Amino acid sequence: MTRRNTATDLPIAIVGGGFSGTLLAINLLRYGEKVMLIERSSAQLAKGVAFGTRRPEHLLNVRASNMSAFPDDAGHFLRWMDFSDHDEANRFVPRLTYGVYLRDALVEALAKAGTNAQIVNGEALSVDFADDAARVHLADGDVLECRSVVLALGNFPPVPHPVLQSLPTALYRPDPWEAAAVEGLAGLDHVLVVGSGLTAADVVLSLESSGFTGKLTVLSRRGLKPLSHAESGPAVTPVPDPDKRGSQLVREVRRRAGEVGWRAAVDAMRPHTQNIWRRHSVSAQASFLRHLRPYWDIHRHRLAPSVAQRLEDLEASGRLRYVAGKLGRAEALGGRALVSYRPRGEEGIELLEVDRVYNCAGPDCDLGRVDLPLVRDLLDQGRIRSDVHALGVDIDHLGRVRDRDGAVQDRLLAVGPITKGEAWEIVAVPDIRRQVWGLARFLADEHWVGGEGL
Ligand SMILES: Cc1cc2nc3c(=O)[nH]c(=O)nc-3n(C[C@H](O)[C@H](O)[C@H](O)COP(=O)(O)OP(=O)(O)OC[C@H]3O[C@@H](n4cnc5c(N)ncnc54)[C@H](O)[C@@H]3O)c2cc1C
Repeated sequence: MTRRNTATDLPIAIVGGGFSGTLLAINLLRYGEKVMLIERSSAQLAKGVAFGTRRPEHLLNVRASNMSAFPDDAGHFLRWMDFSDHDEANRFVPRLTYGVYLRDALVEALAKAGTNAQIVNGEALSVDFADDAARVHLADGDVLECRSVVLALGNFPPVPHPVLQSLPTALYRPDPWEAAAVEGLAGLDHVLVVGSGLTAADVVLSLESSGFTGKLTVLSRRGLKPLSHAESGPAVTPVPDPDKRGSQLVREVRRRAGEVGWRAAVDAMRPHTQNIWRRHSVSAQASFLRHLRPYWDIHRHRLAPSVAQRLEDLEASGRLRYVAGKLGRAEALGGRALVSYRPRGEEGIELLEVDRVYNCAGPDCDLGRVDLPLVRDLLDQGRIRSDVHALGVDIDHLGRVRDRDGAVQDRLLAVGPITKGEAWEIVAVPDIRRQVWGLARFLADEHWVGGEGL
């Protein structure tokens, strides 16, 4: 069935109703645009993967004071939480609470928008484009006509781990975000988590909270683990956009860290990170990704202090161990997984016998490998291509997707973590809220806001 709209009055279709898609929809509705928000999982509508968690132990890793969904209303989330004093604003609240906040914001926008807004529950499988319109094909056979399409697909599923793929499903959890990932823990003695970032921290806490009492080994190439936020809020002195590049810039940040502390030195870079990335050459960006990224990640994406404390306590009790090394082989043996790895900097091989392995190696960013019908369709049509570092979808600075030949398309745009190649720092709420706010203004042709630029 084709839902027909008159050609002059078509909505903007947003595929993906997580944080990015929802906030883009809300901003477009504010400008009186017609919007169609397409989300395949009704439970995740407005919340997405990050804020659709049902587990209260999963806390935001950004203070409440910086979690407003709107760049032009910094206190929006604090008011919604009814937080009024400094201590409350400093808190790291559960992500599921933040999901309710986003759902509320969407409901409020829908109530005001009337027939301008349409929520569609379904998976977009493909899109075809005409000169003046596009049509989104859904898994249930519906075809939705629209003016343009914005991809807000979120992080792609985790990188399939070549070594772990051979393990039977009873022993291996390839996707830690699956609802049932931390179920069936009875009788488990030893769990191996591959990858040591924020996802690994989530998995460790969820196992703990679900009654797991055995040993946990967290294995990653360098054995790095995310650092903790300070107990109290950041005392960041704004710094001008640094004019240094490459290793000189790194030295400069280190020097400043010696003066003001590493947290303040890294946080002061935050308003400039995207432009710093854009100003560097492709080879300098590649060098950053190869050598510095793991260190940037642990300093920049921090744990809430209470989460860091729980992990420290587990380590101190001897139940949690971080190991640096490279996975060798994995095989099923007598109902357990036998996993070998080479410790970093050593020649020998170590063996681990575990009852379950979690793949927390992070999202797959390589479009060529992503096994999603919509991505495959757009790739096959030559409508999307990987950015030069294979971090996601190649876009221009306005969010327009580049086709196979590099030409920007007015009817196909993208937002959120899949656009990392353009801005690098486009993972967390403070960056995405600004990106979607800007894109809404561009799509709605609303360039004058609140006296700005006058
Ligand atoms: C576990 C986790 C914790 C995080 N914690 C924080 C935090 O504390 N603070 C912070 O600032 N940032 C945090 N972030 C980062 C950031 O906020 C998220 O990455 C952000 O929410 C991304 O939103 P998104 O809408 O782009 O992606 P998602 O939330 O993944 O949403 C994408 C949506 O698109 C839907 N979808 C995909 N393909 C289709 C299709 N073909 N058809 C229909 N629907 C489709 C999916 O079902 C999904 O709901 C966290 C991220 C993660 C993963």
